[in-house]
Amino acid sequence: MDRKAKAVITRETGKPVVVEEITVSGPQRGEITIRLDACGVCHSDLSATNGTIAFPPPLVLGHEGAGTVVEVGEGVTDFALGDSVLSSYINMCGKCRYCSTGRPELCDMAGKTVFTLPDGSVRTHDAQGQPLNVFTGCGVMAEYATLNVGNAVKVDAKGVKPECCALISCGVMTGWGAVVNTAKVRPGSICVVFGTGGVGLNAVQGCAMSGASMIVAVDTNDAKLSIAKSFGATHTFNPASAEDPVKALKKLTAGGADYAFECVGHGTVLAQAFGCLRKGGMAVMVGVTKAGDMTSIRTNSFSMEEKVLTGSNLGGARPREDFPRLIGLYRAGRLKLDELITQRYSIDEAPQAFDDLASGRNARGVIVFNESK
Ligand SMILES: [Zn+2]
Ligand SMILES: [Zn+2]
Repeated sequence: MDRKAKAVITRETGKPVVVEEITVSGPQRGEITIRLDACGVCHSDLSATNGTIAFPPPLVLGHEGAGTVVEVGEGVTDFALGDSVLSSYINMCGKCRYCSTGRPELCDMAGKTVFTLPDGSVRTHDAQGQPLNVFTGCGVMAEYATLNVGNAVKVDAKGVKPECCALISCGVMTGWGAVVNTAKVRPGSICVVFGTGGVGLNAVQGCAMSGASMIVAVDTNDAKLSIAKSFGATHTFNPASAEDPVKALKKLTAGGADYAFECVGHGTVLAQAFGCLRKGGMAVMVGVTKAGDMTSIRTNSFSMEEKVLTGSNLGGARPREDFPRLIGLYRAGRLKLDELITQRYSIDEAPQAFDDLASGRNARGVIVFNESK
């Protein structure tokens, strides 16, 4: 059935987001419709409004959502009415060579689910009946969303606040997973994390959980650095305070880091991350850069010093296993989620949420939907 839903939309690149009432059509074959309970406001959403991520408007934002299944399409057997679901910004077909080899974060189908559902169509239309694209096949910054099942992960969310659950599906998974899944940080390691937004803070807590002996959080925003301490950073460093940040970090880490995580999304920062490694160290690119962003690094660091440079998408996640795993860690009191949420917003307050994100005021802002809906 068609449902009316308020949704957060980018109409024009570079302009503030707008909240509109849209129509969300019911699920077709292999799809489900969810009623959203909460949706995180992620830096990638902001990037889609300013052109850093070039998804064509008009676009329904949101990819970090937690919701409840309200309608199930033909052929769907893995989801039932009332199931708790997290969105996955990666569509997982379950069949391609990447899905088949345990790397669904690289699924070939994700390339076909960039701003539509996998078949290239959308279930979202504006008041004039015009189609609206959806962020990575999700578009979950809306009261309802119809998703291909490849973009949905069923979780046991009992007793966990939806706004905490929502954050798992992008920010937490991306930062924590880069450390635990991609780098596989060993206990006693020295780690440097560049950027202490939602993703960086989770890289910090991933390093802490992995038993790192030193965790240096790097950011130009001193207020965020103090939050990083509460997530396990043992040291903080503001690059603006040093003439040569790489040299200063090497000194602070007594010769360099074993692991460095770039959670900002700039080639220049990646070069710093790589530069501050000790011999045999690993730098992980986590941040999403502007298309065409480049960097320059000293190539003999690979052969002579055995340094490693790699990347991590969605924290190298196997979402169907890792999302429930993260909820389990939260339940056990080992993963901080409540502390990530610095502000809750209603959907009508979404423009404010984007302003606050742009000005660096939040660890994570979350839109919490009206429960009575
Ligand atoms: Zn995100
Ligand atoms: Zn696949």
